[in-house]
Amino acid sequence: MVTSPVIVWFRHDFRLADNAALTAAVETGAPVLCIHILEGAADQVAARWWLGRALELFDAALRQRGGGLHVFDGPAMQVLPALVAATGARAVFWNRRYDPEGRETDTRLKALLKAGGTPVQSFSGALLHEPWTVRTRTGQPYHVFGAYWRAACQMGHERSPLPAPRTIAFAAPDPGCLPPMVDAGAIGREMRATGWTDGLEAAWRPDEESAQAALARFLDGPLEEYARDRDFPARPATSCLSPFLRWGHVTPAQIREAAVARPPSGGLAKFMAELGWREFAWSVLFTRPELASRNLRPEFDAMPWRRDRDGLQAWARGRTGYPLVDAGMRQLWRTGWMHNRVRMVAASFLVKHLLIDWREGERWFARTLVDYDPASNGMNWQWVAGTGVEAAPFFRMMNPLIQSRKFDPSGAYIRAWVPELAGLADGQIHTPWLAGGAAGYPAPIVGHEAARERALSAWRGLRGPV
Ligand code: FAD
Repeated sequence: MVTSPVIVWFRHDFRLADNAALTAAVETGAPVLCIHILEGAADQVAARWWLGRALELFDAALRQRGGGLHVFDGPAMQVLPALVAATGARAVFWNRRYDPEGRETDTRLKALLKAGGTPVQSFSGALLHEPWTVRTRTGQPYHVFGAYWRAACQMGHERSPLPAPRTIAFAAPDPGCLPPMVDAGAIGREMRATGWTDGLEAAWRPDEESAQAALARFLDGPLEEYARDRDFPARPATSCLSPFLRWGHVTPAQIREAAVARPPSGGLAKFMAELGWREFAWSVLFTRPELASRNLRPEFDAMPWRRDRDGLQAWARGRTGYPLVDAGMRQLWRTGWMHNRVRMVAASFLVKHLLIDWREGERWFARTLVDYDPASNGMNWQWVAGTGVEAAPFFRMMNPLIQSRKFDPSGAYIRAWVPELAGLADGQIHTPWLAGGAAGYPAPIVGHEAARERALSAWRGLRGPV
Protein backbone atom coordinates (compact mmCIF):
# COMPACT_ATOMS: atom_id res chain seq x y z
CA MET A 1 0.00 0.00 0.00
CA VAL A 2 1.37 3.46 -0.90
CA THR A 3 1.25 5.84 2.05
CA SER A 4 0.03 9.27 1.07
CA PRO A 5 2.62 11.96 1.76
CA VAL A 6 2.53 15.30 3.49
CA ILE A 7 3.81 18.23 1.45
CA VAL A 8 6.17 20.87 2.83
CA TRP A 9 6.17 23.92 0.61
CA PHE A 10 9.48 25.79 1.08
CA ARG A 11 9.33 29.44 0.12
CA HIS A 12 11.74 31.74 1.99
CA ASP A 13 12.83 29.16 4.53
CA PHE A 14 15.64 27.10 3.05
CA ARG A 15 16.82 25.47 6.25
CA LEU A 16 16.43 22.27 8.20
CA ALA A 17 16.84 23.68 11.72
CA ASP A 18 14.18 25.87 13.34
CA ASN A 19 11.81 25.05 10.52
CA ALA A 20 8.45 24.59 12.20
CA ALA A 21 6.64 23.44 9.05
CA LEU A 22 9.23 20.76 8.33
CA THR A 23 9.34 19.57 11.94
CA ALA A 24 5.54 19.32 12.11
CA ALA A 25 5.45 17.42 8.82
CA VAL A 26 8.09 14.95 10.01
CA GLU A 27 6.17 14.44 13.25
CA THR A 28 3.10 13.23 11.35
CA GLY A 29 5.08 10.07 10.55
CA ALA A 30 3.98 10.26 6.88
CA PRO A 31 6.55 10.48 4.07
CA VAL A 32 7.51 14.08 3.40
CA LEU A 33 7.47 15.64 -0.07
CA CYS A 34 9.67 18.76 -0.11
CA ILE A 35 8.70 21.24 -2.81
CA HIS A 36 9.35 24.75 -4.08
CA ILE A 37 7.23 26.64 -6.61
CA LEU A 38 8.95 29.27 -8.76
CA GLU A 39 6.92 32.44 -8.41
CA GLY A 40 9.42 35.29 -7.97
CA ALA A 41 9.59 38.40 -10.10
CA ALA A 42 12.15 37.81 -12.87
CA ASP A 43 13.35 41.44 -12.76
CA GLN A 44 14.70 41.01 -9.22
CA VAL A 45 17.88 39.68 -10.74
CA ALA A 46 20.18 39.50 -7.73
CA ALA A 47 17.45 37.88 -5.64
CA ARG A 48 16.84 35.46 -8.48
CA TRP A 49 20.51 34.52 -8.47
CA TRP A 50 20.33 33.93 -4.71
CA LEU A 51 17.21 31.82 -5.11
CA GLY A 52 18.81 29.77 -7.88
CA ARG A 53 21.86 28.94 -5.76
CA ALA A 54 19.74 28.37 -2.66
CA LEU A 55 17.62 25.83 -4.54
CA GLU A 56 20.72 23.96 -5.76
CA LEU A 57 22.32 23.88 -2.33
CA PHE A 58 19.15 23.03 -0.43
CA ASP A 59 18.39 20.23 -2.87
CA ALA A 60 21.91 18.91 -2.25
CA ALA A 61 21.40 19.10 1.54
CA LEU A 62 18.14 17.15 1.25
CA ARG A 63 19.80 14.61 -1.05
CA GLN A 64 22.47 14.00 1.55
CA ARG A 65 19.65 12.92 3.83
CA GLY A 66 18.17 10.65 1.20
CA GLY A 67 15.57 12.99 -0.33
CA GLY A 68 15.60 16.04 -2.55
CA LEU A 69 13.72 19.20 -3.47
CA HIS A 70 10.99 19.01 -6.11
CA VAL A 71 10.84 22.32 -7.97
CA PHE A 72 7.76 23.32 -9.97
CA ASP A 73 7.15 26.29 -12.24
CA GLY A 74 3.85 28.10 -12.56
CA PRO A 75 1.21 29.83 -10.49
CA ALA A 76 0.98 28.22 -7.05
CA MET A 77 -2.83 28.41 -7.30
CA GLN A 78 -2.61 25.80 -10.06
CA VAL A 79 0.52 23.83 -9.19
CA LEU A 80 -0.27 23.05 -5.55
CA PRO A 81 -3.85 21.73 -6.00
CA ALA A 82 -2.63 19.66 -8.98
CA LEU A 83 0.18 18.24 -6.87
CA VAL A 84 -2.15 17.41 -3.98
CA ALA A 85 -4.45 15.61 -6.41
CA ALA A 86 -1.58 13.75 -8.10
CA THR A 87 0.01 12.51 -4.86
CA GLY A 88 -3.09 12.14 -2.71
CA ALA A 89 -1.30 14.28 -0.13
CA ARG A 90 -2.95 14.15 3.26
CA ALA A 91 -1.83 17.64 4.37
CA VAL A 92 0.21 20.65 3.32
CA PHE A 93 2.58 22.53 5.63
CA TRP A 94 4.29 25.87 5.14
CA ASN A 95 5.92 28.68 7.07
CA ARG A 96 4.10 31.97 6.75
CA ARG A 97 5.13 34.83 4.49
CA TYR A 98 3.96 38.38 5.01
CA ASP A 99 4.23 40.25 1.71
CA PRO A 100 0.81 41.32 0.38
CA GLU A 101 0.81 39.07 -2.73
CA GLY A 102 2.14 36.06 -0.82
CA ARG A 103 -0.48 36.47 1.90
CA GLU A 104 -3.25 36.73 -0.63
CA THR A 105 -2.11 33.60 -2.48
CA ASP A 106 -1.76 31.67 0.78
CA THR A 107 -5.21 32.67 2.03
CA ARG A 108 -6.84 31.63 -1.24
CA LEU A 109 -4.90 28.37 -1.41
CA LYS A 110 -5.70 27.46 2.17
CA ALA A 111 -9.42 27.95 1.52
CA LEU A 112 -9.26 26.02 -1.75
CA LEU A 113 -7.36 23.05 -0.35
CA LYS A 114 -9.43 22.90 2.82
CA ALA A 115 -12.62 22.96 0.74
CA GLY A 116 -11.22 19.94 -1.09
CA GLY A 117 -10.59 18.14 2.21
CA THR A 118 -6.82 18.73 2.49
CA PRO A 119 -5.78 20.45 5.70
CA VAL A 120 -3.16 23.18 5.53
CA GLN A 121 -1.06 24.15 8.52
CA SER A 122 1.00 27.32 8.60
CA PHE A 123 3.73 28.28 11.07
CA SER A 124 5.80 31.26 12.13
CA GLY A 125 9.56 31.42 11.82
CA ALA A 126 10.67 34.41 9.78
CA LEU A 127 10.11 36.91 12.60
CA LEU A 128 10.37 37.06 16.38
CA HIS A 129 6.81 38.40 16.53
CA GLU A 130 4.03 37.88 14.04
CA PRO A 131 3.35 41.28 12.46
CA TRP A 132 -0.15 41.59 13.87
CA THR A 133 0.81 40.84 17.47
CA VAL A 134 2.72 43.93 18.61
CA ARG A 135 -0.01 46.47 19.21
CA THR A 136 -0.73 49.48 21.42
CA ARG A 137 -3.06 49.09 24.41
CA THR A 138 -5.96 50.08 22.17
CA GLY A 139 -5.01 47.47 19.57
CA GLN A 140 -3.50 49.91 17.06
CA PRO A 141 -0.26 49.29 15.12
CA TYR A 142 2.79 51.30 16.20
CA HIS A 143 3.99 54.04 13.87
CA VAL A 144 7.20 54.80 15.72
CA PHE A 145 10.05 52.32 16.03
CA GLY A 146 11.09 53.13 19.63
CA ALA A 147 7.61 52.46 21.03
CA TYR A 148 7.22 49.38 18.83
CA TRP A 149 10.49 47.84 19.96
CA ARG A 150 9.87 48.57 23.66
CA ALA A 151 6.50 46.83 23.40
CA ALA A 152 7.99 43.92 21.45
CA CYS A 153 10.75 43.44 24.03
CA GLN A 154 8.22 43.52 26.87
CA MET A 155 6.25 40.77 25.16
CA GLY A 156 9.30 38.54 25.50
CA HIS A 157 10.33 35.76 23.16
CA GLU A 158 8.74 32.52 24.27
CA ARG A 159 9.77 30.25 21.44
CA SER A 160 13.14 28.52 21.46
CA PRO A 161 14.52 27.54 18.07
CA LEU A 162 13.82 23.97 16.98
CA PRO A 163 16.61 21.52 16.16
CA ALA A 164 16.81 20.02 12.67
CA PRO A 165 14.82 16.76 12.43
CA ARG A 166 17.14 13.82 13.14
CA THR A 167 15.75 11.82 10.28
CA ILE A 168 13.28 12.57 7.52
CA ALA A 169 11.29 9.85 5.76
CA PHE A 170 11.07 11.28 2.25
CA ALA A 171 8.23 10.60 -0.16
CA ALA A 172 9.35 9.28 -3.55
CA PRO A 173 6.43 9.82 -5.92
CA ASP A 174 6.63 8.70 -9.54
CA PRO A 175 7.78 11.90 -11.35
CA GLY A 176 5.65 10.92 -14.34
CA CYS A 177 2.51 11.46 -12.27
CA LEU A 178 3.49 14.93 -11.04
CA PRO A 179 2.97 18.37 -12.63
CA PRO A 180 5.99 19.32 -14.82
CA MET A 181 9.12 19.88 -12.76
CA VAL A 182 12.22 21.99 -13.23
CA ASP A 183 15.72 20.91 -12.31
CA ALA A 184 16.78 22.52 -9.00
CA GLY A 185 19.90 23.87 -10.74
CA ALA A 186 18.02 25.46 -13.66
CA ILE A 187 17.84 29.02 -12.35
CA GLY A 188 21.44 28.89 -11.16
CA ARG A 189 22.55 27.95 -14.68
CA GLU A 190 20.30 30.56 -16.29
CA MET A 191 21.74 33.29 -14.06
CA ARG A 192 25.37 32.19 -14.55
CA ALA A 193 24.81 32.37 -18.31
CA THR A 194 24.15 36.12 -17.99
CA GLY A 195 27.86 36.54 -17.15
CA TRP A 196 26.93 39.10 -14.48
CA THR A 197 26.93 36.89 -11.43
CA ASP A 198 30.66 36.25 -10.87
CA GLY A 199 30.85 38.88 -8.11
CA LEU A 200 27.81 37.38 -6.39
CA GLU A 201 29.26 33.87 -6.66
CA ALA A 202 32.50 35.09 -5.09
CA ALA A 203 30.74 36.93 -2.26
CA TRP A 204 28.08 34.48 -1.10
CA ARG A 205 27.19 30.85 -0.59
CA PRO A 206 23.44 30.80 -0.02
CA ASP A 207 22.92 27.96 2.42
CA GLU A 208 22.21 27.20 6.06
CA GLU A 209 25.79 26.27 6.90
CA SER A 210 27.13 29.60 5.62
CA ALA A 211 24.45 31.47 7.56
CA GLN A 212 25.55 29.78 10.77
CA ALA A 213 29.20 30.48 9.94
CA ALA A 214 28.43 34.19 9.34
CA LEU A 215 26.55 34.33 12.64
CA ALA A 216 29.39 32.70 14.59
CA ARG A 217 32.00 34.97 12.95
CA PHE A 218 29.99 38.03 13.92
CA LEU A 219 29.21 36.97 17.49
CA ASP A 220 32.81 35.92 18.17
CA GLY A 221 34.27 39.15 16.84
CA PRO A 222 32.55 42.34 15.71
CA LEU A 223 29.52 42.11 18.05
CA GLU A 224 31.31 43.65 21.03
CA GLU A 225 32.20 46.85 19.16
CA TYR A 226 29.14 46.80 16.90
CA ALA A 227 27.66 50.00 18.38
CA ARG A 228 30.94 51.87 17.77
CA ASP A 229 31.93 50.48 14.39
CA ARG A 230 28.76 49.65 12.50
CA ASP A 231 28.64 52.91 10.54
CA PHE A 232 32.14 52.55 9.07
CA PRO A 233 31.83 50.68 5.78
CA ALA A 234 35.51 49.72 5.55
CA ARG A 235 35.37 47.85 8.88
CA PRO A 236 34.02 44.29 8.93
CA ALA A 237 31.74 45.40 11.76
CA THR A 238 28.28 44.19 10.77
CA SER A 239 26.91 40.67 10.50
CA CYS A 240 26.16 40.48 6.72
CA LEU A 241 23.25 38.26 7.73
CA SER A 242 20.58 40.18 5.82
CA PRO A 243 20.33 37.88 2.76
CA PHE A 244 20.45 34.77 4.94
CA LEU A 245 17.56 36.19 6.97
CA ARG A 246 15.72 37.22 3.84
CA TRP A 247 15.85 33.71 2.40
CA GLY A 248 15.34 31.98 5.72
CA HIS A 249 18.66 30.14 5.94
CA VAL A 250 18.68 31.39 9.52
CA THR A 251 15.88 32.67 11.76
CA PRO A 252 15.81 35.65 14.09
CA ALA A 253 15.02 33.23 16.94
CA GLN A 254 18.28 31.36 16.24
CA ILE A 255 20.20 34.63 16.07
CA ARG A 256 18.63 35.91 19.25
CA GLU A 257 19.33 32.73 21.18
CA ALA A 258 22.97 32.64 20.10
CA ALA A 259 23.43 36.39 20.72
CA VAL A 260 21.95 36.58 24.21
CA ALA A 261 24.19 33.71 25.30
CA ARG A 262 27.07 36.23 24.99
CA PRO A 263 27.89 38.67 27.80
CA PRO A 264 25.60 41.73 27.74
CA SER A 265 27.14 44.68 25.91
CA GLY A 266 26.11 47.87 24.16
CA GLY A 267 26.88 46.05 20.93
CA LEU A 268 24.40 43.31 21.73
CA ALA A 269 21.55 45.71 22.54
CA LYS A 270 22.19 47.72 19.38
CA PHE A 271 22.35 44.58 17.24
CA MET A 272 19.08 43.28 18.66
CA ALA A 273 17.49 46.67 17.96
CA GLU A 274 18.60 46.41 14.32
CA LEU A 275 16.82 43.07 14.09
CA GLY A 276 13.94 45.01 15.64
CA TRP A 277 13.95 47.41 12.67
CA ARG A 278 13.47 44.42 10.42
CA GLU A 279 10.52 43.28 12.52
CA PHE A 280 9.09 46.80 12.53
CA ALA A 281 9.35 46.99 8.73
CA TRP A 282 7.28 43.82 8.34
CA SER A 283 4.71 45.09 10.81
CA VAL A 284 4.42 48.38 8.87
CA LEU A 285 4.03 46.49 5.58
CA PHE A 286 1.38 44.31 7.17
CA THR A 287 -0.86 47.31 7.89
CA ARG A 288 0.33 49.46 4.97
CA PRO A 289 0.65 47.07 1.98
CA GLU A 290 1.38 50.07 -0.26
CA LEU A 291 4.67 50.69 1.63
CA ALA A 292 6.90 50.01 -1.39
CA SER A 293 4.79 51.87 -3.92
CA ARG A 294 3.00 54.90 -2.40
CA ASN A 295 4.03 57.81 -0.21
CA LEU A 296 2.81 57.08 3.30
CA ARG A 297 2.64 60.86 3.71
CA PRO A 298 0.22 61.82 0.94
CA GLU A 299 1.40 65.46 0.85
CA PHE A 300 4.44 64.14 -1.06
CA ASP A 301 2.17 63.07 -3.93
CA ALA A 302 2.54 66.65 -5.20
CA MET A 303 6.37 66.61 -5.06
CA PRO A 304 7.80 67.81 -8.39
CA TRP A 305 10.21 64.88 -8.83
CA ARG A 306 12.55 65.29 -11.79
CA ARG A 307 12.55 62.89 -14.71
CA ASP A 308 16.27 62.53 -15.24
CA ARG A 309 17.25 59.33 -17.06
CA ASP A 310 20.94 60.33 -17.25
CA GLY A 311 21.08 61.14 -13.54
CA LEU A 312 19.38 57.89 -12.63
CA GLN A 313 21.76 55.93 -14.85
CA ALA A 314 24.84 57.68 -13.41
CA TRP A 315 23.63 56.91 -9.89
CA ALA A 316 22.84 53.26 -10.64
CA ARG A 317 26.22 52.65 -12.28
CA GLY A 318 28.26 54.48 -9.63
CA ARG A 319 29.27 57.44 -11.80
CA THR A 320 27.90 60.46 -9.94
CA GLY A 321 31.32 61.93 -9.17
CA TYR A 322 30.67 61.59 -5.43
CA PRO A 323 33.12 58.88 -4.33
CA LEU A 324 31.20 57.42 -1.37
CA VAL A 325 27.94 57.21 -3.34
CA ASP A 326 29.75 55.62 -6.29
CA ALA A 327 31.62 53.14 -4.08
CA GLY A 328 28.33 52.00 -2.58
CA MET A 329 26.53 51.67 -5.89
CA ARG A 330 29.43 49.67 -7.33
CA GLN A 331 29.56 47.42 -4.27
CA LEU A 332 25.86 46.78 -4.85
CA TRP A 333 26.34 46.01 -8.56
CA ARG A 334 29.23 43.65 -7.90
CA THR A 335 28.09 41.83 -4.76
CA GLY A 336 24.33 42.39 -4.44
CA TRP A 337 24.83 44.03 -1.04
CA MET A 338 25.72 47.47 0.29
CA HIS A 339 26.69 48.67 3.73
CA ASN A 340 23.77 50.28 5.61
CA ARG A 341 25.37 53.71 6.12
CA VAL A 342 26.22 53.88 2.43
CA ARG A 343 22.70 52.75 1.46
CA MET A 344 21.42 55.78 3.38
CA VAL A 345 23.87 58.17 1.73
CA ALA A 346 23.26 56.77 -1.77
CA ALA A 347 19.48 56.80 -1.33
CA SER A 348 19.52 60.33 0.04
CA PHE A 349 21.65 61.46 -2.92
CA LEU A 350 19.13 60.10 -5.43
CA VAL A 351 16.10 61.55 -3.71
CA LYS A 352 17.46 64.91 -2.56
CA HIS A 353 20.51 65.80 -4.67
CA LEU A 354 18.98 64.51 -7.90
CA LEU A 355 15.36 65.05 -6.80
CA ILE A 356 14.38 61.72 -8.38
CA ASP A 357 11.34 59.87 -7.04
CA TRP A 358 12.37 57.42 -4.30
CA ARG A 359 10.40 54.68 -6.09
CA GLU A 360 13.00 54.66 -8.90
CA GLY A 361 15.67 53.92 -6.31
CA GLU A 362 13.50 51.38 -4.57
CA ARG A 363 13.11 49.54 -7.88
CA TRP A 364 16.83 49.59 -8.60
CA PHE A 365 17.59 48.17 -5.15
CA ALA A 366 14.88 45.54 -5.70
CA ARG A 367 16.69 44.51 -8.91
CA THR A 368 20.17 44.43 -7.46
CA LEU A 369 20.01 43.52 -3.73
CA VAL A 370 20.37 39.89 -2.71
CA ASP A 371 18.63 40.79 0.57
CA TYR A 372 15.80 42.67 -1.15
CA ASP A 373 12.48 42.47 0.61
CA PRO A 374 9.53 44.81 0.15
CA ALA A 375 9.27 45.61 3.86
CA SER A 376 12.84 46.66 4.70
CA ASN A 377 13.43 48.21 1.30
CA GLY A 378 10.15 50.13 1.21
CA MET A 379 10.41 51.33 4.80
CA ASN A 380 14.02 52.46 4.49
CA TRP A 381 13.47 54.28 1.20
CA GLN A 382 10.49 56.10 2.67
CA TRP A 383 12.53 56.85 5.79
CA VAL A 384 15.31 58.44 3.75
CA ALA A 385 12.90 60.29 1.44
CA GLY A 386 10.93 61.71 4.36
CA THR A 387 7.73 60.26 2.93
CA GLY A 388 7.24 57.51 5.55
CA VAL A 389 5.31 57.45 8.79
CA GLU A 390 8.50 57.54 10.82
CA ALA A 391 11.03 59.22 8.60
CA ALA A 392 13.95 61.63 8.49
CA PRO A 393 12.44 65.05 7.63
CA PHE A 394 12.90 65.88 3.94
CA PHE A 395 14.76 69.11 4.71
CA ARG A 396 17.50 67.18 6.52
CA MET A 397 19.85 66.42 3.64
CA MET A 398 22.84 64.15 4.07
CA ASN A 399 25.95 65.87 2.78
CA PRO A 400 27.83 63.13 0.90
CA LEU A 401 31.19 64.81 1.49
CA ILE A 402 30.73 65.11 5.24
CA GLN A 403 29.48 61.51 5.38
CA SER A 404 32.45 60.37 3.34
CA ARG A 405 35.04 62.12 5.52
CA LYS A 406 33.36 61.02 8.73
CA PHE A 407 32.68 57.36 7.99
CA ASP A 408 35.44 56.51 5.52
CA PRO A 409 38.18 58.87 6.75
CA SER A 410 41.11 57.06 5.13
CA GLY A 411 39.12 56.33 1.96
CA ALA A 412 39.70 52.57 2.35
CA TYR A 413 36.13 51.73 1.33
CA ILE A 414 36.23 54.12 -1.63
CA ARG A 415 39.56 52.66 -2.81
CA ALA A 416 38.12 49.14 -2.65
CA TRP A 417 35.26 49.93 -5.04
CA VAL A 418 36.44 52.90 -7.12
CA PRO A 419 39.87 51.88 -8.42
CA GLU A 420 40.20 55.09 -10.48
CA LEU A 421 40.64 56.94 -7.18
CA ALA A 422 42.98 54.46 -5.50
CA GLY A 423 46.08 56.59 -6.13
CA LEU A 424 44.71 59.75 -4.46
CA ALA A 425 45.89 60.77 -1.00
CA ASP A 426 43.53 60.32 1.96
CA GLY A 427 42.83 64.05 2.07
CA GLN A 428 41.94 64.21 -1.64
CA ILE A 429 39.94 61.07 -2.14
CA HIS A 430 36.60 62.52 -1.01
CA THR A 431 36.84 65.48 -3.40
CA PRO A 432 38.84 64.31 -6.43
CA TRP A 433 37.77 67.35 -8.47
CA LEU A 434 39.72 69.61 -6.10
CA ALA A 435 42.81 67.55 -6.83
CA GLY A 436 42.41 68.07 -10.57
CA GLY A 437 40.30 64.92 -11.06
CA ALA A 438 41.31 61.32 -11.67
CA ALA A 439 41.57 59.59 -15.04
CA GLY A 440 38.34 57.87 -15.99
CA TYR A 441 36.41 59.24 -13.02
CA PRO A 442 33.57 61.74 -13.67
CA ALA A 443 33.24 65.23 -12.27
CA PRO A 444 30.26 65.66 -9.86
CA ILE A 445 27.02 65.50 -11.85
CA VAL A 446 25.50 68.10 -9.56
CA GLY A 447 26.93 70.64 -7.12
CA HIS A 448 26.01 70.11 -3.48
CA GLU A 449 24.82 73.65 -2.73
CA ALA A 450 22.77 73.98 -5.93
CA ALA A 451 21.19 70.58 -5.36
CA ARG A 452 20.36 71.48 -1.80
CA GLU A 453 18.67 74.71 -2.85
CA ARG A 454 16.68 72.89 -5.56
CA ALA A 455 15.48 70.19 -3.16
CA LEU A 456 14.53 72.61 -0.41
CA SER A 457 12.67 74.85 -2.81
CA ALA A 458 10.68 71.86 -4.16
CA TRP A 459 9.88 70.83 -0.61
CA ARG A 460 8.85 74.37 0.39
CA GLY A 461 6.55 74.43 -2.64
CA LEU A 462 4.73 71.41 -1.19
CA ARG A 463 3.93 73.27 1.97
CA GLY A 464 2.62 76.38 0.16
CA PRO A 465 3.34 79.99 1.21
CA VAL A 466 4.22 80.21 4.90
P1 FAD B 1 23.58 44.27 10.64
O1 FAD B 1 24.02 45.64 10.98
O2 FAD B 1 24.42 43.15 11.05
O3 FAD B 1 22.11 44.12 11.26
C1 FAD B 1 21.54 42.84 11.58
C2 FAD B 1 20.24 42.67 10.84
O4 FAD B 1 19.30 43.65 11.26
C3 FAD B 1 20.34 42.81 9.35
O5 FAD B 1 20.81 41.63 8.75
C4 FAD B 1 18.92 43.16 8.98
O6 FAD B 1 18.11 42.01 8.90
C5 FAD B 1 18.46 43.99 10.16
N1 FAD B 1 18.60 45.41 9.88
C6 FAD B 1 19.67 46.19 10.09
N2 FAD B 1 19.40 47.47 9.74
C7 FAD B 1 18.14 47.48 9.28
C8 FAD B 1 17.29 48.50 8.76
N3 FAD B 1 17.67 49.80 8.64
N4 FAD B 1 16.04 48.15 8.36
C9 FAD B 1 15.60 46.86 8.46
N5 FAD B 1 16.37 45.86 8.96
C10 FAD B 1 17.61 46.18 9.36
N6 FAD B 1 17.64 45.48 4.49
C11 FAD B 1 17.17 44.33 3.98
O7 FAD B 1 17.29 43.28 4.62
N7 FAD B 1 16.53 44.30 2.76
C12 FAD B 1 16.37 45.43 2.02
O8 FAD B 1 15.77 45.37 0.93
C13 FAD B 1 16.90 46.64 2.52
N8 FAD B 1 16.80 47.79 1.78
C14 FAD B 1 17.32 48.96 2.30
C15 FAD B 1 17.20 50.15 1.56
C16 FAD B 1 17.71 51.35 2.06
C17 FAD B 1 17.55 52.62 1.26
C18 FAD B 1 18.36 51.37 3.30
C19 FAD B 1 18.91 52.65 3.86
C20 FAD B 1 18.47 50.21 4.06
C21 FAD B 1 17.95 49.00 3.58
N9 FAD B 1 18.05 47.80 4.31
C22 FAD B 1 17.53 46.63 3.80
C23 FAD B 1 18.52 47.82 5.71
C24 FAD B 1 20.00 47.59 5.95
O9 FAD B 1 20.77 48.39 5.11
C25 FAD B 1 20.43 46.13 5.79
O10 FAD B 1 19.55 45.28 6.47
C26 FAD B 1 21.83 45.95 6.37
O11 FAD B 1 22.75 46.79 5.70
C27 FAD B 1 22.24 44.51 6.25
O12 FAD B 1 23.58 44.34 6.66
P2 FAD B 1 23.92 43.42 7.89
O13 FAD B 1 23.22 42.13 7.79
O14 FAD B 1 25.40 43.40 8.02
O15 FAD B 1 23.27 44.25 9.07
